[in-house]
Amino acid sequence: MNILVSGAGIAGLALARELGTRGHDVTVVEYGRHLRLTGTPIDIRGDAIEAVDRMGLLAKIQKQRVRMSELTQFVDSEGEPVARIPMAEVSDSDDDIELLREDLVRILADALPDTAAIRFDDSIETLTDDGDDGDDGGIDGGGVDVRFASGRTGRYDLVLGADGQHSAVRRLVFGPEKDYLRHLGVYFALADHPDEARSEGANSIYNVPSRMAGLFRYNGKAVAVFQFRSEPIDYDHHDLDAQKKILIDAFAGHRSWRIPELLDAALADPAFFFTSASQIHLPSWHRGRVALVGDAGYCPAFLSGRGTSLALTGARFLAEELQRCGNDHTAAFARYEARQRPYVTFAQDRVYSGRDRMLPTTWDAIAARNKALQATGPGAP
Ligand SMILES: Cc1cc2nc3c(=O)[nH]c(=O)nc-3n(C[C@H](O)[C@H](O)[C@H](O)COP(=O)(O)OP(=O)(O)OC[C@H]3O[C@@H](n4cnc5c(N)ncnc54)[C@H](O)[C@@H]3O)c2cc1C
Repeated sequence: MNILVSGAGIAGLALARELGTRGHDVTVVEYGRHLRLTGTPIDIRGDAIEAVDRMGLLAKIQKQRVRMSELTQFVDSEGEPVARIPMAEVSDSDDDIELLREDLVRILADALPDTAAIRFDDSIETLTDDGDDGDDGGIDGGGVDVRFASGRTGRYDLVLGADGQHSAVRRLVFGPEKDYLRHLGVYFALADHPDEARSEGANSIYNVPSRMAGLFRYNGKAVAVFQFRSEPIDYDHHDLDAQKKILIDAFAGHRSWRIPELLDAALADPAFFFTSASQIHLPSWHRGRVALVGDAGYCPAFLSGRGTSLALTGARFLAEELQRCGNDHTAAFARYEARQRPYVTFAQDRVYSGRDRMLPTTWDAIAARNKALQATGPGAP
């Protein structure tokens, strides 16, 4: 089949690999001008490990494994460690693989077969699905006409939306984001901090009520990380300056520890990343010849630590089911959804403890959190 994938993130690249190696012609259209490599380390967990194993990428991924969370500590305004995050808080199992998002993106992109190509700096503007075409289960005849922002046009057997939390494919086919978004009350930002890249030290997190700022280091890189609690904020998801301003405003009046310096790093970073902790809940992830994979369909929020794993299992199940169903996309989409749904429910159900641990709302609650962690023995600094 001739398949269009929107988004070259984890889900899009995994789909391109899985579908391309099964003989489909895959075009990935990516809004960014190049692969987007920003990100703190992410986790591959549970059956997602088997998914990357079946892709033949497990050994490469294991080579890039980091153990960053073991070294992460809460600090006071002087930078003195006051508590450590216990591993049990961040990892379900010793088998979990933590690696830089950047490394996973590169490994997936390097593994694309000749049948898959990425087109950067473009995006889908309109989609017209001919609909399902009768008794053949949609194998022949129908298709999706696509017009791109670049002015190009194309016709595809299937269109897969892997374009993340603010998916354009979802908006075009299923309706506005607000109908599916569940905001969890937290925003997240990160930025490169090149001045700190070479210095040694543990990863540090500093709290003020309802906010945290952190400095994480790994593999010769340093990243400024921020989280803050907030009601939903309306902003343009492609306007970086507007997103930086939201972050600056959220920390207005807070100048303790290294907050000003970390905010300066955010202002200076052209690859600054900003998102909300929000989940996407859709009753179904497919309509006609269009299906959603990864955050586009079922974002569990970064607080779950499972978005990447869902993207990987989703890509695998969808590709396997298309193969099993002889390209009858209607049957395959239904089977993909039946296999993937339990993983999504599990991931989306387990987000709140991380938020409360990371973002206490008062100074007293921050002190109580630190005290509780000090008392837990193995987690004590
Ligand atoms: C730059 C970046 C940094 C991230 N950092 C973290 C992190 O530190 N911690 C964490 O837990 N999660 C992070 N995430 C999210 C995490 O990668 C996902 O939750 C998870 O891996 C699921 O992947 P996904 O492919 O569904 O979505 P994503 O990884 O978000 O990928 C979506 C892709 O689609 C592209 N895209 C968006 N809109 C369009 C459009 N209209 N047309 C074409 N392409 C489009 C995006 O540029 C992106 O490449 C980050 C995502 C990005 C894009």
